[in-house]
Amino acid sequence: MLSSPLEVRPGLWQITLPLPFELSSVNVYLVRLHDGWMLMDTGLATSHSYAELTAQLAHIGVPLQSIRQILLTHTHPDHVGQAKRLLAETGAQLFMSADERDQLHRAAASSDQPEWLDNTLHRAGVPPVLIETIENSFVKMRPQFQPLVPDRILNDSEVMETAIGPLELHLTPGHSPGHMCLYNRDQRILFSGDHILQSITPNIGWLPGRDALAEFFASLERVRPIEAETILPGHGKPFSGHADWITATRGHHDDRCRKIVDSLDAGPRTAHQLVSDLWARPLAPFHHRFAVFEVLAHLEFLLRLDAISSVPQADGSLLWKV
Ligand SMILES: [Zn+2]
Repeated sequence: MLSSPLEVRPGLWQITLPLPFELSSVNVYLVRLHDGWMLMDTGLATSHSYAELTAQLAHIGVPLQSIRQILLTHTHPDHVGQAKRLLAETGAQLFMSADERDQLHRAAASSDQPEWLDNTLHRAGVPPVLIETIENSFVKMRPQFQPLVPDRILNDSEVMETAIGPLELHLTPGHSPGHMCLYNRDQRILFSGDHILQSITPNIGWLPGRDALAEFFASLERVRPIEAETILPGHGKPFSGHADWITATRGHHDDRCRKIVDSLDAGPRTAHQLVSDLWARPLAPFHHRFAVFEVLAHLEFLLRLDAISSVPQADGSLLWKV
């Protein structure tokens, strides 16, 4: 066992599972139900992660088969990956939001990199040879997206009954289009998924037809007034003080918007070029892709504010200007 499960409250455990990335772990939560247990998020589908989860469950004394519900805060691979195997082994019911179901279906539908992703990278001015390297670095991730049919779609403001008290559902799109946080008012605990993280800011990536950054800002304001004493994040340790974190995170993105406008003031740039303006350190292809999509989310936000515009180039890329 890599780490010991953390008993946050009676009937509530934080289980930390390994990730083979720079971000080296993800949290899943075990919540007691009146009849069995709920598992919130599942970890990545690796043998290492599975061995760790089963070891920690055994340590707590909860047999895998007593998991009756699996709830996904969102369907990124480190949260959904292990769901298919666990559903098969437990017979649990699966809960998620409609937007996450749709996103997962799109991701699981193609065995290759979806065409819109390639097109987006091309429009962002990423050189073809780098697009290919990025694709290769994501090949390993494809099997993490398995089509899953939820037993129940969860909607905003719904309440889930558990033995530790009701969990109120807050849809918080931004980091992912149908991301949800859950609040236990009785114990003032907010399960924040990847919407609020302790020591890092969540990645906000561009998605077709959406203004992910504006959605994220609205979702931050949505949870700011919640009087939570304990935040249980998708990565990192339990913490408190989410209102300060929200203020700092909003400032971080406003600052990034200012830096983008400053760069464009000096002359038109592609999103790919803006990445090197904003990140001083060289990025591996896997991270470069996230950085491009993060820049695109900021450009989309600024575009909708009429602060910037784009000009299509002969090679199919977009040049952005103030
Ligand atoms: Zn995530």
